[in-house]
Amino acid sequence: MKGLTSPLWPIHFKPLPDELLSSWLVRLAHSHGLKVQTFCNLIFGNRLQVWNRDIDRLAPDWLITELSDRTGATIEQVMNTTLQSYQGILYHRQRASGTLSWIQSLKLHHRKFEGFGLQFCPECLTKDREPYFRKSWRVAFNTFCTSHHCILHDRCLDCGQGAAFHRNDMRHAQYVKTVSLKECYYCGFDLSKSPSLPPKYESRDIGIFLGDLSQKLLDGALGQAEIDNLLVMHHFAKLMFTRNSRVKLYSHLCNVLGADEIALDTKSDIEGADVDTRHHVLQAIAYLMVNLEPILRRAIAGKAVRYNHLKKDFDDMPGWYEGFIKKFSDWRRPY
Ligand SMILES: [Zn+2]
Ligand SMILES: [Zn+2]
Repeated sequence: MKGLTSPLWPIHFKPLPDELLSSWLVRLAHSHGLKVQTFCNLIFGNRLQVWNRDIDRLAPDWLITELSDRTGATIEQVMNTTLQSYQGILYHRQRASGTLSWIQSLKLHHRKFEGFGLQFCPECLTKDREPYFRKSWRVAFNTFCTSHHCILHDRCLDCGQGAAFHRNDMRHAQYVKTVSLKECYYCGFDLSKSPSLPPKYESRDIGIFLGDLSQKLLDGALGQAEIDNLLVMHHFAKLMFTRNSRVKLYSHLCNVLGADEIALDTKSDIEGADVDTRHHVLQAIAYLMVNLEPILRRAIAGKAVRYNHLKKDFDDMPGWYEGFIKKFSDWRRPY
């Protein structure tokens, strides 16, 4: 296509607020009237493959540089569309494979997503002038939209497939300007027509705690205390999904909360769980966090968890937590 070789592409809009790199790239391709694959082959050539990886997590430098050069967006603006921008906030060490803390897995297999790692808010997709996918929808502790107070979805309600908007244009003929990201890639269902349901919380405090965390992440306002809390919360999540049958923290908390206990897949982790499971488990984690000492003391007294479990395999333990759990180190001491 004429014009794609000049420094700036003919159409070179910048990413929308909180937009994912993949969403921006797909919209750029479609705005030029090209399918995503055709557009990427024209720009990057067949040699540099874009979609054989989770590009929001593993965006290569050449892609970042090219997007910056061709759209006029700064490198910082482009980097900010990637999940790498969460390093030091949600996770602390970059890894090429395996799970990153709090980043949902797409379970990519032959360019298909086999997991349900990309969530969406039906109301956001309805109200967007041009529907697009948010970076925060890839975050495991985000289970509801703080703007519209509705539960996020993680799959098409019509056919059950996960969202994979980079494949939407495969269902269409050559001219793709009318392809919307809100279509299900598999059956064409309009994902914005998914029901908008208010989230249920086990208590008001839990709702406030989780909503505050999501909103602050979106606003880039998470402080060190919250970043440390996320480390602790993640350790509790691991204790809930553990295969160690002696750790009964999840059952204990469900019991104390009077909540139904659902079977957790201990081969999975919170990043691989569906949105309903995560929302449920996060209620228990938030319940612990809002009143940590008495609730943990009761769990230890009830033998649902031991001091050893609270620190085992917890490498980035925040200083306050290390000091705090020491009071539970003497198992003979009555609580
Ligand atoms: Zn929304
Ligand atoms: Zn569908």
